[in-house]
Amino acid sequence: MAENDTARAMRTIIAIIGKRNVGKSSLINAIAGQEIAIVSDIAGTTTDAVAKPYELLPLGPVTFYDTAGLDDEGQLGEMRIKATKKVLYRSDIAIIVCDNNGLDEAEKSMIDEVKKLDIPFLIAFNKSDINQASDEDKSYCQNNHIPFTEVSANKKSNITKLKEQIISIVPAELKKEPVLAGDLFTEGDTVVMVVPIDLAAPKGRLIMPQVQVLREILDCDATALVVKERELDAALDNLKQKPALVITDSQVILKVSGDVPDDIKLTTFSIIFARFKGDIEIMVKGAKAIDALKDGDKILMAEACSHHAQADDIGKVKIPRWLSQYTGKELHFDFFSGHDFPEDLEKYSLVIHCGSCMLNRVEMVRRLRECVRRGVPITNYGVAISKTQGVLERVVKPFGL
Ligand code: SF4
Repeated sequence: MAENDTARAMRTIIAIIGKRNVGKSSLINAIAGQEIAIVSDIAGTTTDAVAKPYELLPLGPVTFYDTAGLDDEGQLGEMRIKATKKVLYRSDIAIIVCDNNGLDEAEKSMIDEVKKLDIPFLIAFNKSDINQASDEDKSYCQNNHIPFTEVSANKKSNITKLKEQIISIVPAELKKEPVLAGDLFTEGDTVVMVVPIDLAAPKGRLIMPQVQVLREILDCDATALVVKERELDAALDNLKQKPALVITDSQVILKVSGDVPDDIKLTTFSIIFARFKGDIEIMVKGAKAIDALKDGDKILMAEACSHHAQADDIGKVKIPRWLSQYTGKELHFDFFSGHDFPEDLEKYSLVIHCGSCMLNRVEMVRRLRECVRRGVPITNYGVAISKTQGVLERVVKPFGL
């Protein structure tokens, strides 16, 4: 992953939305304290959403998206509104900017839109140097529990308060650092890791998720036992005490679940990372959508980076095959790798995402949220494999699901 991709992934994305000429660009300039957005008195100067990176302390790096006016007119207006919605799908928070004319139907429908997408937001009543927000608008915000601030981008007044408010509405899930599997065992326990060494395994090393779990086991003062699937049975027999947990590569889950007695907790690296990197509940729910697939349904196989596909590639060959066998349906698969989801995401009945080893948690949570906002179930490769192998319930049980 390129350095600037990492930086983008870790940034909190803030969409600045509002009607034309309410001072969205000026407000970003006032927050950032520099002329980074083009400002004009002519309504509708900002066409496409423009990204403005900024360090919002103490939160850290953020990207403001300076969007086109949501009240734009004509064909060009429609395109601008579409671009703004695309930004909203990926945003962590939104600032709805209105001017001294206060809230009218346009702002209220923006409020409905961001609420529908479940995006935390606040209202900035800009141009307070000309007019204060009306009592009616303030009551509207209070009655609807919407945080708001009166600001003047021109006079740079109340900008610090606005910054504090922005930080206060950033979702807690983006700030937390969850554990991998460390809450499933304790000091002195034995944890068995099942690592197949097949043609897909990189030469001479373990893959990053395996290394990270191994390191966590050692950090917790537990014992790690690493075996290939063929040696698992003998390894379990040789243990004086039952292991606290067995973690396996998803691709051999069927064999492993047969070898590991039911009273030993079993999960997969993919399930662990589904929780660590995102939201396991969303992905398990997404996997359940597999049961509702019908003939002709389209499935998006989404990968976060492009890599050389093997002859029996997991995303391109194996999962499509297992899914077709499991459902008995005629399914169509599209393959996609890259930063944004396809524009016409809604045409898919399911998104199956790769393990996202190259993404950080914030970026993956954002992708999950975008699917939820667009009403498309999403799961990941490992969770989908466990589902098609009939072991999903068992491998999510250690997480209380
Ligand atoms: S799991 Fe996803 S992010 Fe990791 S190498 Fe494969 S395609 Fe790239």
